[in-house]
Amino acid sequence: MNEVRVRFAPSPTGPLHIGGVRTALYNYLFAKKNGGKMILRIEDTDQTRFVPGAEEYIVQSLDWCGIKFDESDYVGGEYGPYKQSNRKHLYKQYSDELLAKGCAYIAFDTAEELDQYRKEAEANKQTFIYNCQTRKNLRNSLTMSKEEVEKLMADGTPYTVRFMIPENREIVMHDLIRGEVKVQTNTLDDKVLFKSDGMPTYHLANIVDDHLMKISHVIRGEEWLPSMPLHVMLYEAFGWEAPQFAHLPLLLKPDGNGKLSKRDGDRLGFPVFPMFWQDPKTGDTAMGYKQSGYYPEAFINMLALLGWNPGTEQEIFTMEELIQSRQGLSGLAEGRKRHRRFA
Ligand code: GLU
Repeated sequence: MNEVRVRFAPSPTGPLHIGGVRTALYNYLFAKKNGGKMILRIEDTDQTRFVPGAEEYIVQSLDWCGIKFDESDYVGGEYGPYKQSNRKHLYKQYSDELLAKGCAYIAFDTAEELDQYRKEAEANKQTFIYNCQTRKNLRNSLTMSKEEVEKLMADGTPYTVRFMIPENREIVMHDLIRGEVKVQTNTLDDKVLFKSDGMPTYHLANIVDDHLMKISHVIRGEEWLPSMPLHVMLYEAFGWEAPQFAHLPLLLKPDGNGKLSKRDGDRLGFPVFPMFWQDPKTGDTAMGYKQSGYYPEAFINMLALLGWNPGTEQEIFTMEELIQSRQGLSGLAEGRKRHRRFA
């Protein structure tokens, strides 16, 4: 096997939830177990969701937990910069490459127009999606003449670049935890890859960076499973080898219904954040394990056991023991079958 290189790729949109810490921890344990590298990449392409102080919070929290990075903007590394806003200049050429290959197209529909289509569809109890059916009737480079498109672009009309999902295909993928996952392409929408503000979307930046940073395994929360077919098709379109994927089950509410939230923590008296957080805009505060008096070793021990156990009576682990006792990702797959509720 090539070198194991994994990444934790948070978006600085708020404090890091303990589910995120667990994702980082599982990446870390997997990297260390396999003599690999752990990378921190900050995914801040969505400027509208940027929250001041969130990146610092994430970095300090992971440091408090003892999750150390081999590469990041803080410790350096040969694949940097590791913050997407500082890699902005890199992405357009990849979007252009997909346009040239006919795997993507230019769309001029405005936010207002798209909103209108959504409302119309809703009125008919339907959902509007920009896909292989609707794209044939919308304002894009597939329906307009080359001259028209060139003129609009020359006039500075805002546009986005969308991925053209192939019609009538079944995408068969392998997830290290879930096993085989199959998706019909006609159920997917033509996601925006490049926005009118000159920034890539999460999808494009994430794939380009995972490729350029030579990531071997993408280990992330299950909320990203629906994006996996798009990501697999993007690798295919670029002609790049895809990393292996592992989507971790989420931490659920104590009753098992839905994602664990700050409100559950408040109600039941436990923090859902590693450290104290104060929202810079609203002033809202959230308690943290650190300020509540827990040792980081105990916090990590608890998180490691939410979704995994060694199959013995051992309940107390040092980080080193956790690294050694993990049976790779098969351990995580095992954990999926077991209890993972937070209680
Ligand atoms: N920026 C994404 C997040 O905040 C990363 C998802 C991924 O790991 O691909 O969850």
